[in-house]
Amino acid sequence: MKAFSPAVDADPASPSDSPFLARALEVVLPDSISRFAIVMLLYIGASWGGNALTRTPAVADLIWPANGMLLAFLLSTSRRYWSVYLTSSILVNIAVHMSFGFSPGRAILFTSANTVEVIIAVSLLATKDNRKPDLTNFRTLGRFLFFGVFLAPLASTGFLEMILAVWTYPRHPELLANWFTGDVMGMALMAPLFLAIDKTELKALFAPQKRWETVAIWTAITLVSILIFTQTGLPIDFLVIPVLLVAVFRLRATGAAIGILLMAAPAVYMTERAHGAFMLSGATLAQHGFFILQLFLCVNLVIVYAVNTALGVRDKMHQEITAAFHEADALATQDHATGLANRFSFDRHLALEWQNAALQQTSLALLMLDIDHFKLYNDHYGHLAGDDCLRRIASILASASLRTSDLVARYGGEEFAVILPRVSAQGAVTLAERVRQLVADAQISHMPYTPGIVTVSIGVAAMIPDAGKDETDLIQFADRALYSAKRAGRNRVETYQNCFEIEYD
Ligand code: GH3
Ligand code: MG
Ligand code: MG
Repeated sequence: MKAFSPAVDADPASPSDSPFLARALEVVLPDSISRFAIVMLLYIGASWGGNALTRTPAVADLIWPANGMLLAFLLSTSRRYWSVYLTSSILVNIAVHMSFGFSPGRAILFTSANTVEVIIAVSLLATKDNRKPDLTNFRTLGRFLFFGVFLAPLASTGFLEMILAVWTYPRHPELLANWFTGDVMGMALMAPLFLAIDKTELKALFAPQKRWETVAIWTAITLVSILIFTQTGLPIDFLVIPVLLVAVFRLRATGAAIGILLMAAPAVYMTERAHGAFMLSGATLAQHGFFILQLFLCVNLVIVYAVNTALGVRDKMHQEITAAFHEADALATQDHATGLANRFSFDRHLALEWQNAALQQTSLALLMLDIDHFKLYNDHYGHLAGDDCLRRIASILASASLRTSDLVARYGGEEFAVILPRVSAQGAVTLAERVRQLVADAQISHMPYTPGIVTVSIGVAAMIPDAGKDETDLIQFADRALYSAKRAGRNRVETYQNCFEIEYD
């Protein structure tokens, strides 16, 4: 999302360098207005939902989703903006509690206890670089469970107990017990759920080619949840598993986490009204059904995380295998010294092009190129210089503006070959002449050889495949033409047609 204040985001590494005004703005302005608005709307919804849907007779809520949600957002927000989010959440929290009929004193007390919990959790779990904790990492998960799910709600409950003791407020032991379990549930469920929602994954879910699938899967989850929770007594809660698995396979953790939220809405609403799969005949108290529902949601979340992790491992492995395959393919098909296609690749390509040409009855041309008196070059300049010379010739060939269907290969020692599909003998000769000229123009010194520069001889053959012939005939014809070019004095191009009468020595 777009940063709201350029001055604030100009140099995140050194906020102390920023001018006083910018530093002051950091305290009151969020990182991004749209993100802030979304977080606050969700926070209002979660506070309202916690109060409206799950209130127990002991006043505290069976599940308090707002703290876990806020924790997840703070963990992915720079510390500089925490104060803005926390202050706003305090105001929302007090207002929502008061709108549910709590006195200002109680609203402030409960809000303070919530804020203590979030501050403790976020301080203990945040990393220096504001990276979201990866809950698929075992250590990180352990830290999250201990600090976020256990210690922070415990501290919050302790804080509440302390204030109540000091103020001799009317006390309910159930209030404290419910406060603790409600916050534990809220943290355990909401923080991982919102941490699973990834911005880029969220965008991908609404990409034009994906959005209908996303909507269809979410609708299916919601409908299955309605089916499970509107009737009473039939334990058909397992029906959600296949749809949730489809969600995690097709929409990944983000899509499945949102799916769980969609599933939770009718589930919480109906369970609270004593309907649904968890209202078994033995469970007389609504709390029993509610507790089972919380467990059910947690288990679903664990399934989503586990499958998503397995899919992540599979994807990583797939990437590694693909990369290794490409590397192995390059090694198997490339000539190490020149980077051109190697002999193996040449043979494969030629056989394929021969088949194509035979099918389509088109001309297939082949150039065989050999460096003139290269042995003398090696003897004079040494083998390392010889290797350099080979690389230069290779790069001249590679850059000789060929078509993508053409293939330049190192055929052997100082011999190269060029496969030219759908090229006539005449076209191939023109190209061969250009290559020969390019090599001569490169003016690579070759003192022991009379022209004084490196030159090449090129044999050209072209044919429309006919019955009784194969690609080795084409190689043989090009080779004969090359031999004829050598015999005729080197540094020249010869075609197979011109060398019928010439035989090998
Ligand atoms: P011609 O004009 O008849 O082709 O003469 P030539 O000396 O090029 O022919 P010949 O086939 O006798 O020699 C080829 C030489 O190419 C022999 C070898 O030293 C050299 N050669 C082959 N492969 C390599 C290589 O990878 N690196 C180097 N430096 N030299 C190579
Ligand atoms: Mg040779
Ligand atoms: Mg040679």
